[in-house]
Parts: sequence; C-alpha cells; structure tokens
Amino acid sequence: MAGRIPQPFIDELLARTDIVELVGGRVQLKRAGREWKACCPFHAEKTPSFWVSPEKQFYHCFGCGAHGTALGFLMEHDKLPFPDAVDELASRLGLEVPREDDGRGTRARPGEDLYELLAQVSQFYRDTLRESARAKKYLADREITPETCVKFAIGYAPNSWDAVLKRFGGSAERERLLADAGLVIERSGKGESGFYDRFRDRVMFPIRDARGRVIAFGGRIIDEGEPKYLNSPETALFHKGRELYGLYEARQALRKIERLLVVEGYVDVARLAQSGIAYAVATLGTATTPEHLNRLFRVTSELVFCFDGDRAGRAAAWRALENALEHARDGRQLRFLFLPDGHDPDTLVGEEGPEAFEARLATAQPLSEFLVTQLAAQADLANLDGRARLAELVRPLLARVPAGVYQELLLERLAQEVRMPAGRLAELLKGRPEKPRGRRPAPGRTPVSAGRHPLLTQAIMLLLHHPSAARAVTEPPAFLQGDYKGFSVLLELLEMAKATPELSTAQLIERWRERPEGARLAELAAEESLVRDGRAAGRDLVMALKRMAAEFGPDKRLNELIAVSRERKLTSEEQQEFQRLLGERSGSAGA
Ligand SMILES: [Zn+2]
Repeated sequence: MAGRIPQPFIDELLARTDIVELVGGRVQLKRAGREWKACCPFHAEKTPSFWVSPEKQFYHCFGCGAHGTALGFLMEHDKLPFPDAVDELASRLGLEVPREDDGRGTRARPGEDLYELLAQVSQFYRDTLRESARAKKYLADREITPETCVKFAIGYAPNSWDAVLKRFGGSAERERLLADAGLVIERSGKGESGFYDRFRDRVMFPIRDARGRVIAFGGRIIDEGEPKYLNSPETALFHKGRELYGLYEARQALRKIERLLVVEGYVDVARLAQSGIAYAVATLGTATTPEHLNRLFRVTSELVFCFDGDRAGRAAAWRALENALEHARDGRQLRFLFLPDGHDPDTLVGEEGPEAFEARLATAQPLSEFLVTQLAAQADLANLDGRARLAELVRPLLARVPAGVYQELLLERLAQEVRMPAGRLAELLKGRPEKPRGRRPAPGRTPVSAGRHPLLTQAIMLLLHHPSAARAVTEPPAFLQGDYKGFSVLLELLEMAKATPELSTAQLIERWRERPEGARLAELAAEESLVRDGRAAGRDLVMALKRMAAEFGPDKRLNELIAVSRERKLTSEEQQEFQRLLGERSGSAGA
C-alpha cells in the first residue's frame, strides 16, 4: 500500500498516549492494584473481567479474550480502520501523521483514495445492473427484489475485460490504484503489459466495513461456471479472515442483535434479510476463523452456523466446531443447523417462509450435542474399548474449551452418553498426560509460528511482557539461526528489544500488526505474567535460552553428526566440526 505510516511515528504515538486515559474516556475504569478494571465493553457482563495495564500499555478481557494496544482499542471500540485509529491518536496529541514516500508519488490519504474509488465503482456496478436484463432476470429468479438490491447495493459487473479499467483508469497512477483496490489484475504473460478487469459478467455484492464503506466485492457468477463466488483479493482495506458479509447491514437493520446466523453465500444473506431474517452474515470464501468468532461474539452471544446436510456440509461444520471450541464459554450459545438435502437457506426461506425457517433455527443442535453425536458415531459405546476410544477422541477437544461451567456441562453430557459418572470420565480423561494445548491451525489459515516449544513460548512471553529483559542477553545465541519454527520470531524480538530496550509491550506488538504471527504474539502478550519486573524477566530469559541451547544448540548438531556417521563416512569438514563440538562440550561440562 502506498504511503505507509512510519514505524517510529507509531512508536511515538504509543509512547505518548496513556492507554488508561484513552480507555478511561470510553469505559468506566476502577483501580485494582497496579492495573485498572471494568466491565468489558466488548461483551455483556456484570462482574468486571476487562483489565488495562499501564505498564504493558495493553488491555485484556478474561471473559471474551479481547485484547490489544491503544491503537487496537480504537479500532475495535470505535470501529476505526488502522489509518483512522492512527489519525485519532495523533490528533489527540496534536501531531501530523507523516507518510513514507513509496516512489509512486505521495498521496495525503491513500486509504481515502481507495474508499472513494471503491464507492464510485460500486455505484457504477449499480448503474450497470439497471441496464442488464440478464442480471435482473437472475436476481428475479432468485426472488431478490429491487428494494433488496438497493439495501445491499447490489450491482452488476458487465461482461467486459476493461469496462472498469477504461472508466476509472486513465493514468498509470489511477490504474495502480485500481489494482490496489483489487478491481483490476496486472497482465503477467510474456510480452504483455497493462491491466484487465477482475470481475466480469457477475452480480456484484459490495462488502462494507463497520462504517458502511465499501472495502471489497463479492461477485456471483450468473450462469453455471467456476468459481461460483469470486471475492476481491486481500488489499490494504480488506482481510478475508476478518470480514463478514452482511454484518453492517444487520447492524443497520436491528437495534439489538439477539443472534447471528452464519451462512455460506451473499445471496442467502440478502434473501434472508428480505424475508425478515435480518441477522444473517456470510464468511468470504474462507472457513470461520477465530477472528470472525471474536467479532461475532462482540455483537451477540448466540451464533447459529448453517450448513448443508450432506457429507461436505458436516465436514465444514466440524471444522467450524473445532475453531469454536476455544470460544465456547458460559453465557454463549453456539449451535449448528443442517439443512435438508438440496436446499440453501435462500430457497428454503422462500419455500417455507420466515416463521418455519425460524422454527428450524430453534431446533439447531447445540455445540455440545453436535460434538457428542459426531464422536459417538465413531466409537461403539456398547463396549469398554469403544468408550475408551471416545474418551481418547474427546480429550484434545475438551482441552480447548476454557475451564468453567461450560466445560463441566460438556463433560456431563459426554458422561451421559458413555453411561459413566462424570467424575469417572474426568478421571479417565486425565489418565494420560495432556497433549500440548496448541491448537492445530485451521485449513487455509497461515500457520501461526510464534513458537510451540514451551521454552520458546516462555522466552517470547518474557520479552513481550518485559522488553527490557533483552538487556540481560549479551549476544543472541547462534542456535536461534536454526530453522526451528518460531526461532526467527524470538530472534527478531530479541533484536528489536535489544536495539530499543525501553519499548513497551504495546510498541513491540504494534510492529507485528501486519504479520501472520502478530495475532499469536498479541495473545501471548495478553496472558498473565507472573514475572514482575524486567530484571527478574532478564534472569528467566537467560535461563530459558540456556535450556534451549542444550536442546537445540551444539549438542543437537553433535547428535545429528553421530546419526550421519552411521549412514556414511563423515566428510573431513564434518569430522573437524565433530571434534570441535566434542571439545566444547567437555569444556562446558567441566565449568
Ligand atoms: Zn470481554
């Protein structure tokens, strides 16, 4: 994206903003020891579980898991996109936001340009729809009325390779902006140059952010063809894993959202809204991500996932369940609705009407029920082996549900299924050592590589909570250059914190905002730290690195070389290395 905001400026903003004051202006905070607490603004609660730490310049809710920096708070609470949150903090401090020149010419507000362009193109698609008998017939066949088209700003992208390009291009800079907005694609063939329209001959559904601004499009093919749904690519404004189609419209339509229904397609969302079910949303070509769940649970406490009743639908539902387990807690309802074969929500609501459809919703399977029946189908509960197998299947899943009443209820429901007292089942589940709690990344999601080894996680947490701990490390140990997952993250954190030990947790976290590991790091930053100051953290950090060195350092290489020597003769370099490592080892063992 053009005109990046320079990192030092973000550092300065966070250094000069007090998160307690910022949050305190919006939420009634009460002092509690070194920190401040309040009833969480992101979920409904009566006893405070929302904490703000002046030390870390970070907030965290133990109830819903919301967490972040002052910038993150503005984005979540005031529903501001990142550049606007920066603007807001800057104007509080009376600062001008500088922009880096990326060589494409500076624009004062590149974000603004993109929003404006997307709004204009959305209007163009709407105008085109009015002239296209074909697109209008498609919508009429799906029983989408013109009023719904207006409400959802539905349009049509003409069957042309350059309709948008011609109309909104015009200069190299404009064409580049169209590409940044995801509306045109750069030709990449040999000897080719220029751009062509991404969306051709599709019914267009604009995807709007919390403020109602168009940030992307979803295009539905009119006839049969692939892909059925085509979405904008990831852009500076659009992140698939975060956005939900229809959420803005739902918030416009309903004062209070009692529940949200998660469906597959845009057409379903529009058609349901038209039938009076204004609380449907759709993910955008991805499975439901943990980020989606966080957003949804900030709006409502009841979610119903809607899936096809076939095998593929059940598999998709299971994936959603796996992601949802960590979000299952007291006061929240998560349910699964399976539709009769050959039906989409839109056809079904058309056929049977909204009352019957809502009656179906009321019968949706609760998460616990779906979990138990799916698992029970995989094990023969009539015999002991089968019940042990069920316990085996359940253990890793149950470990992901936060401890609390909900977890107990789930355990009880399972105990009922295996006809065993809940206490005994709990014992059985505890029988084997716990698997590491790290969750498997959902398919299609970037694997989080912020470290899964407990020592690595500990070292990363120490640095996040007390960046000044890096002072205690004279030289980052060489083994961190190795390609173990997460080492590069630790090494980079160490280098950042060593270069600027006075960084706060919040400043450190903000540097990772755009990166795949950022979310995991923010989670670790939000976890409670028992280490109280930088000096103690420094000692612990040195100790963790030492213990890691024993596991990943020279000894590991020694073992590798020994293994190699069993397969073939070592080269002379390898022999030398072997001797040297052996020498170092006996040296350090004596020390
Ligand atoms: Zn909360």
